[in-house]
Amino acid sequence: MKISIDRIKKEKKVFLEYEDEQFKDKNLRESTKKPLFVSVVLSLIDNNDVRVKGRILGEFILVCDRCCDKFVQNKEVEIDEVFELEKKEISERMFYLDNRIRDVVLAQFPIKLLCAEDCKGICIGCGVNLNKSECKCKNF
Ligand SMILES: [Zn+2]
Ligand SMILES: [Zn+2]
Repeated sequence: MKISIDRIKKEKKVFLEYEDEQFKDKNLRESTKKPLFVSVVLSLIDNNDVRVKGRILGEFILVCDRCCDKFVQNKEVEIDEVFELEKKEISERMFYLDNRIRDVVLAQFPIKLLCAEDCKGICIGCGVNLNKSECKCKNF
């Protein structure tokens, strides 16, 4: 999603509601089945910065770092940030929102993703997912 900067004139806010599909790639650590719902207000500050305020809703498919299973997590991300326009954006008179949205959303996820606080992980001996089945090593 990119928006003409001339639409975001001073004192004139632009309200945007759209579906963001950038997390649809299943190879991502954080992906989504349905597009993200983005609802934000944009306002131009001093011709150099754009303030983005609103919220982003998404149902994410994540991969647990301990047991490697996929799990689903709903996220509601509040956004209220001021972004400096890049040279490219100033010359094109366009504000690129997608990469900013992506950075804000990804910052909400911890470095280590866990399906549950007490996820038992995978047995190093037999490789079973200890959340789902009994360790087979014990049988020997
Ligand atoms: Zn897990
Ligand atoms: Zn085992």
